[in-house]
Amino acid sequence: MKYYNLKDRRVITGFREAVERGISPDMGLFMPERIPRLDDAFFRQLPSMTLPEIGIEVGSLYAGDDIPRKVMRQICGEAFDFPVVIRQVDERKLVLELFHGPTAAFKDFGARFMAGCFRYFSSRDDKRRVVLVATSGDTGGAIASSFLGVEGVDVIILYPSGKVSSLQENQLTTLGRNITAVEVDGSFDDCQAMVKSALAGSANRTNLKLTSANSINIARLIPQSFYYYYAIGCSGNGRVLSVPSGNFGNITAAAMARRSGLGIDHLVAATNVNRVVPDYLKTGIYAPAVSVATIANAMDVGNPGNFDRLRRVFDDDYGAITGSVSGYWFDDDRIREHIGQEYQRTGYLLDPHGAVASLGLDAYLEHHPGSGGIFVATAHPAKFRDIVEPLTGQTVEIPDSLRNFLAGKKQSVKMKAGPQNLEEYLDDIYQNE
Ligand SMILES: *Cc1c(COP(=O)(O)O)cnc(C)c1O
Repeated sequence: MKYYNLKDRRVITGFREAVERGISPDMGLFMPERIPRLDDAFFRQLPSMTLPEIGIEVGSLYAGDDIPRKVMRQICGEAFDFPVVIRQVDERKLVLELFHGPTAAFKDFGARFMAGCFRYFSSRDDKRRVVLVATSGDTGGAIASSFLGVEGVDVIILYPSGKVSSLQENQLTTLGRNITAVEVDGSFDDCQAMVKSALAGSANRTNLKLTSANSINIARLIPQSFYYYYAIGCSGNGRVLSVPSGNFGNITAAAMARRSGLGIDHLVAATNVNRVVPDYLKTGIYAPAVSVATIANAMDVGNPGNFDRLRRVFDDDYGAITGSVSGYWFDDDRIREHIGQEYQRTGYLLDPHGAVASLGLDAYLEHHPGSGGIFVATAHPAKFRDIVEPLTGQTVEIPDSLRNFLAGKKQSVKMKAGPQNLEEYLDDIYQNE
């Protein structure tokens, strides 16, 4: 499979290069040259396939010769060693729970698959790879836990001091080994500027490969389609799928799966008040905005990084995208109210992100009475106890994976904001290799 740069379609690379670069130097996203169609035999077998088995088939189509099939088997087996759960919430609604991984959020799927790819690539040469990540919270934790102990790869995570939750900070700072947490005296934007500048200057470093692991890496997008095949395989064709969306990677992966032949009837893009995509679907005008803080904070994105990819899946055809995707948005009051009401009505405990998806599905089903659907729950409610417990009057059990992080000892490198500080730090550590 070949990948092209969305900003300059003449630039074509293979899977490996697209993954190792993350983003092209002109900040263009890599996109597969075509969305492969899966054959009838695959869909016939789907109901009996496990998630790793699906990953081997679909992942191999996207990786091509860059990852041998037996390596893909190992990557998928190791990455997806935790359950994906589908539950019936009421007669018309199923929930797809994607929060049973090590950091209790769906980003574990993409981060663990990407780490497996890096482990293989770094076994093929003796260059040291350094993965840089700027995080405002969740992404850094998923990357840290996924890359822990991967030979030949160091991970440096920059986060804004005092601006992430204590659980998130523990997820970044307690692992040690090849994971270094850099606590920046500044904002998330400062962290991002430092990473970008180091990546831009990386051509001068001949002894190591610097790369980024942000959410636009294609190796994080592709595995996010695997669980949609699994969900439809388990529950049958023809359902509506509602995805809580921020940077729009997760729903783009669903759209790619649908384009490959998967029997998803319709997609719902559900957002908090950061509503640029629902507005676009209604008006045809895309107007990126400054992001607004909400209780579903992993979706506080004003200019979604994957929006161009989502449009590309529909050949940039407005009629095609609005025929297949509906958008709905909800404010914090509505989200809070829904968490309480759904708990009363069904006994199901939603986190704020899953609540947005559940609301989106309800909104669509209200106008399409014959349909049933699946909404996606992306984070464990225990990550949002402060919000969820008062609304439901219910104490939330903390999963063991999260409890372990709460116990660890914090270690971080303190750094002042400013690109030169990260450059100097990298010079110090890697000069003699
Ligand atoms: C990142 C995230 C989202 C948004 O996913 P996108 O792929 O960016 O649209 C939703 N929920 C949770 C819990 C997340 O961490």
